[in-house]
Amino acid sequence: MKYVLVTGGVVSGLGKGVTASSIGVVLKACGLRVTSIKIDPYLNTDAGTMSPFEHGEVFVLDDGGEVDLDLGNYERFLDVRLTRDNNITTGKIYQSVLEKERKGDYLGKTVQVVPHITDAIKDWIESVSAIPVDGKDGPADVCVIELGGTVGDIESMPFIEALRQLFFSTGPDNFCLIHVSLVPVLGVVGEQKTKPTQHSVRELRALGLTPHFLACRSAQPLLENTKQKLSQFCHVPAANILNIHDVPNIWHVPLLLRNQNAHEAILKQLALVRVAGPPNLQEWTTRAETFDNLTNSVKIAMVGKYVGLTDSYLSVVKALLHACIACSLKPSIEWIAASDLEDESAKSTPEAHSKAWEALRNSACVLVPGGFGDRGVNGMILAAKYARENKVPYLGICLGMQISVIEISRSILGWKGANSTEFDEHAPNPVVIFMPEGSRTHMGNTMRLGSRRTLLQTADCITAKLYHNPDHVDERHRHRYEVNPEVVGDLEKTGLRFVGKDESRQRMEILELPSHPFYVGVQFHPEYKSRPGKPSALFLGLILAATGQLEAYMKSHQNGSI
Ligand code: GLN
Repeated sequence: MKYVLVTGGVVSGLGKGVTASSIGVVLKACGLRVTSIKIDPYLNTDAGTMSPFEHGEVFVLDDGGEVDLDLGNYERFLDVRLTRDNNITTGKIYQSVLEKERKGDYLGKTVQVVPHITDAIKDWIESVSAIPVDGKDGPADVCVIELGGTVGDIESMPFIEALRQLFFSTGPDNFCLIHVSLVPVLGVVGEQKTKPTQHSVRELRALGLTPHFLACRSAQPLLENTKQKLSQFCHVPAANILNIHDVPNIWHVPLLLRNQNAHEAILKQLALVRVAGPPNLQEWTTRAETFDNLTNSVKIAMVGKYVGLTDSYLSVVKALLHACIACSLKPSIEWIAASDLEDESAKSTPEAHSKAWEALRNSACVLVPGGFGDRGVNGMILAAKYARENKVPYLGICLGMQISVIEISRSILGWKGANSTEFDEHAPNPVVIFMPEGSRTHMGNTMRLGSRRTLLQTADCITAKLYHNPDHVDERHRHRYEVNPEVVGDLEKTGLRFVGKDESRQRMEILELPSHPFYVGVQFHPEYKSRPGKPSALFLGLILAATGQLEAYMKSHQNGSI
């Protein structure tokens, strides 16, 4: 196995994840099979318990792993399916070592950070990098490892030490270290400053790791003399100083690397020159340029709880982007805090209330994404009602589907007490109930997580047509609550159709309202499997419906012309 390690220095938030996945893209474009590992030095065992407000979205994998959103970037950029073990955290490593210690596996030895934690990290990396993630057999050629955080952080020390040892044991031809750093400019016509990079490389070297490449983030392209300085003071050949300056969209980053011949230098470092071919980035080039030149946009109202931090819905935003590009449109997302739509907000914050309603009314479609807890739920219900009554295309994801069911129960069935037991344990009409896969009494480990099968109940529905008529779809889940099977009959009397169910037919997976141009709710999260160039069917449907193209698309597809 050949490893490309990506570390970061100077400051966090440099786009290390995008840099690392773009390196993966360029290597893949040269014909290599690429996998990736993200190391998060925090103590949480996984991202499942982390607040989207603080940490951005929790990304969900096929195997149910709840992981850092960077893994989503890797899946989208490299078009792979990762496993929960591709995300290593300090919590996971310590947990595995402590479990072994309790079992007596260390035979009475004193268990220490070095060598026990560092050995566990090395073993983990070696075994996970061998898992095929691209649907083919056998291990990949290259594993890109991204070390989260900034070099010098106390919590990343055991990882740095383990990686140093790994480097030493795998040998120079099998290891390539790329250090991402920042070259700031002070003042308006100031100089490009190399000192922060020098300091961070010195820190890395003090820990026993010498970078083969620098990937310098900067606003403007690096000047030749800045490169020379960096090369001289950081002990890195000038040809290995890569520059990632600001670009109009992130799909340009692999192209930027290719234009600097990064692939050639990396392949040389890894002794892969003879195995790999020239990079084929035609599709990336077209996509990056197409996006830059798009002029028309479509307004999408995103009504959620965590709208203050757009990273909280990163995969939803990406899925909208993929779908919009397929329709030659730029997404224009109206972020609406659900609570601003509520009646109380008309009194307490009238300006925010009227702004939120104006944004909703000006949008071509409405999306209510997933969420937990009752904040903003009434606002989401109002948004769903508005979309239903005004025939505005609506996509409800997970919580968004449950919202539809509550809204329709209250408005059409007249069940004023309709609610989810998540928000009101003693709701008079529990239309959404706790339906865990495991225990009904314990909250821990009760989430329905990861890829689950949905059987389509009819070919005569929008969803089946958008997915091109399969008998089932496999999408990723992350929820505890579901439509109460006891009220399905009543709900269907309102015209609502449950067109997708699980294999037991007890869990309602997809709902549609046939009297509406596009009103779809799904219990799963289709956004996690959307890819550039392969948009998720339902997101595509939403955008097509928002721009009046859905009918034509479905007809032309039926005739086999798409
Ligand atoms: N809170 C809801 C549940 O647990 C919805 C979860 C979600 O939207 N991901 O079922």
